[in-house]
Amino acid sequence: MIRGPVAEIDLSAIARNLRYIRQIAGGTPVIGVVKADAYGHGAIEVSRRLVKEGISYLAVAYTGEAAELRNAGMDIPIIVLFDRGNVEDIFDFSLIPVVYSRDTALSVSREARKRGAVVKVHVKVDTGMGRLGLYGDHIVDDLIAISEMPGLELTGLLSHFSEADLSDRSYAISQLESFNAIREAVSKKIGRRLFSHVANSAAVLSFKESYLDAVRPGLMLYGYSPFHADNAHGAEREARTISISGGAALLPAMMIKSRILSVRSVASGTPISYGRTFVTKRASRIGVIPVGYADGYSRLFSNNAEVIVRGRRVPVAGRVCMDLTMVDLTDVRDAEENDEVVLLGRQGDEVVTADELARRAKTISYEILTSLGSKSRKVYLGKS
Ligand SMILES: *Cc1c(COP(=O)(O)O)cnc(C)c1O
Repeated sequence: MIRGPVAEIDLSAIARNLRYIRQIAGGTPVIGVVKADAYGHGAIEVSRRLVKEGISYLAVAYTGEAAELRNAGMDIPIIVLFDRGNVEDIFDFSLIPVVYSRDTALSVSREARKRGAVVKVHVKVDTGMGRLGLYGDHIVDDLIAISEMPGLELTGLLSHFSEADLSDRSYAISQLESFNAIREAVSKKIGRRLFSHVANSAAVLSFKESYLDAVRPGLMLYGYSPFHADNAHGAEREARTISISGGAALLPAMMIKSRILSVRSVASGTPISYGRTFVTKRASRIGVIPVGYADGYSRLFSNNAEVIVRGRRVPVAGRVCMDLTMVDLTDVRDAEENDEVVLLGRQGDEVVTADELARRAKTISYEILTSLGSKSRKVYLGKS
């Protein structure tokens, strides 16, 4: 049966990417970021594999995501990065909340007292991201206040980089310096060290000084580097000099596949799709693929992307529709209905990467992976 896209997720690639991260980060524990359904790869299957590979922690955005992992049997520590609404879940599912204001800390503290429980919390400090976290002149005071709230055990401290993916790392360095200053001031006041983590994928690849007590990559697990996005090949090259033995590399874990729904032979001068933005310049064979922007295949790929059929790249012809996309098959003479089409990933010698699609849609690989992955029926390969 022909239907919308299939996302083939290679779990052994994810396991290999984790090993690669470990090689780079030495013995530093890894917090695997599996928010947004593991960047579109499927949080449960991905997390199950990461747990099997011995990852130290998982991190999600919201408690609901953590609850799903718990319900699927995952019993390692789970850090909840952003939630504030579902305090009960923190206790019901034994989660580690990231509190990012006195307020969020208080609501966890209240629930803890109500239950007669003590919960470990990590506190986020804003060192220049301008998003969440204690900020301003009172960060250390706020941390002390949180450490004294009943029912809370302040164990961790984190922050997030805003541009660790630039080759100019001066801002990332200043963020780390602020973080370290806060960490030291607080440790001195409360008399113990806090488990500290700041390194996203970009920092794992290029900023060894930021590894601290754990690294916290997401994108790398799925086989991509943030440096490919637009700039900074310099920093990436530098990153490579953090010597990787055995020449391992990141392996993209997601493929998006479909099949040709229909092939038509049309005369020169035939307009294709909405708005007639593509008009054949020769007698042509036009394939119709049952994938459209409703499946996360961006309308920005109209006349602006290629898919792989029979090991050859063919261009998208005309506008991407809601459920359908046309491609020009004229140069692949043997292409026929029901042939496999690869929209993301490898077929034969050709490959379409999320970085390529991101460049074409003027976005980043993260958005390509989450939008295509979340809409596709998933099939898992490399289960062990
Ligand atoms: C998403 C996220 C990460 C992971 O970032 P990558 O660039 O995918 O490695 C780490 N920390 C926080 C707080 C995040 O939101």
